[in-house]
Amino acid sequence: MAQALQKNKISFTIYEKNDKAEDWLDGYRIHIRSVGSKALHQCLPFKQWNDFLNHTGLDADGIGFLTEDFEELVHVPEKLMIGQNPEPYLKQYAINRTDLRKILLSDLDESINYGKKLDRFEQLENGSVKIFFADGTNEEADILIGADGANSKVRQQYLPNARRVETGAIAIGGRTMLTVESRKWIPITISGRMNVVMPKDKFFFFNAFFDKGKDVDSDKCNYILWSLVGDKKYFQDVSVESDLKQKALSLIPHWNPIYKKIISEGDGDTLLLLNIKTMLPIKSWAASSVTLMGDAIHNMTPMQGMGANMALYDAFILSKQLIEVVLQRKDKLEAIKAYETDMRNKGFAAVAKSMKYTHKAISENRLIRLMSRNWFRLCNKVFFLKKISFGNNWKD
Ligand SMILES: Cc1cc2nc3c(=O)[nH]c(=O)nc-3n(C[C@H](O)[C@H](O)[C@H](O)COP(=O)(O)OP(=O)(O)OC[C@H]3O[C@@H](n4cnc5c(N)ncnc54)[C@H](O)[C@@H]3O)c2cc1C
Repeated sequence: MAQALQKNKISFTIYEKNDKAEDWLDGYRIHIRSVGSKALHQCLPFKQWNDFLNHTGLDADGIGFLTEDFEELVHVPEKLMIGQNPEPYLKQYAINRTDLRKILLSDLDESINYGKKLDRFEQLENGSVKIFFADGTNEEADILIGADGANSKVRQQYLPNARRVETGAIAIGGRTMLTVESRKWIPITISGRMNVVMPKDKFFFFNAFFDKGKDVDSDKCNYILWSLVGDKKYFQDVSVESDLKQKALSLIPHWNPIYKKIISEGDGDTLLLLNIKTMLPIKSWAASSVTLMGDAIHNMTPMQGMGANMALYDAFILSKQLIEVVLQRKDKLEAIKAYETDMRNKGFAAVAKSMKYTHKAISENRLIRLMSRNWFRLCNKVFFLKKISFGNNWKD
């Protein structure tokens, strides 16, 4: 958002509560879909867009669905996911979160105030907004954009009825390094594409990868990202202090050894216990000088890897609207209303989609699982069925 504003010479200031640029999910890769790539391409100056492309990993060979016995149910190649030979700004990418954050923050030094935690705001009669910070200071602005993440202070004050709730799903996640040694035992099916393991009774196991290539001296930078997701009843006895690898392994005793080895070889520093939450749908509200974007408003589960993509999409559509205001083609509130309508429609459609997959992951309905598995097997045999089931599903 800031890059798009700077590119279009619209003045802004970022207030970040942390003292430095950091991300709590340091070490994880993020999946940028076509919708996110397009937004980045539109918002970023040429230099940052090229930096982004230079920091992405090798292309994935699409997505696969596997059984717990390591049988392939279906493989959806990349060209079916996003179309044949898409332009770079329509492709899907993997990038380390820290690299993405650095690129998004580059050349913005003069506009970022670190260590500024927003506490509350006040809408003034003249249409502007007064922002109060935890350090006792305050600032005035024409528009306040709450981009302050899932526990947004701006949302809590502005839309107190908007609720974020537990989904009943818990995940244990981690990463396993792709080294000269591990490349010998990790099948290319795992290290070269995203996969969802859909067992016959319970849980989902998800894997993605970040790989700059085995020729790069990068034992420390290439990895597989994995997570085991299930109903919270299986995770009652777990806390962040628990031996998370051991816990995950204890839940899948009969699975193919390859999954167990990926978990047991996981990098201890990156293990994560995640109580998966989501926003509930909210009714529309009247536009004002305060608005929200990204996780601050349509926080969704990580299933489907859509949250950051939708945050990027918001930046694209909001910056477009603000350009209209600067060019005096739209009034401020008219522009914010147009942004919020689009943002709500698209953002909450993604929330619903990610919830659907979360329900599937924790469902223990064997019949539905059996039917899905058999349908996937059939799709793998009949290209036409694969195409209508999965084709272009990842474009937005
Ligand atoms: C395990 C996991 C994997 C994921 N993988 C993917 C993926 O592959 N693809 C994808 O699209 N999405 C993914 N997501 C979701 C994605 O991480 C989020 O949707 C995305 O980070 C949201 O971006 P944001 O800018 O809205 O919020 P955030 O990234 O949370 O940024 C909010 C910022 O606001 C700051 N802040 C917070 N409160 C205040 C305050 N009071 N005052 C000032 N500053 C404040 C924070 O410090 C932070 O810098 C994943 C999420 C998880 C948990």
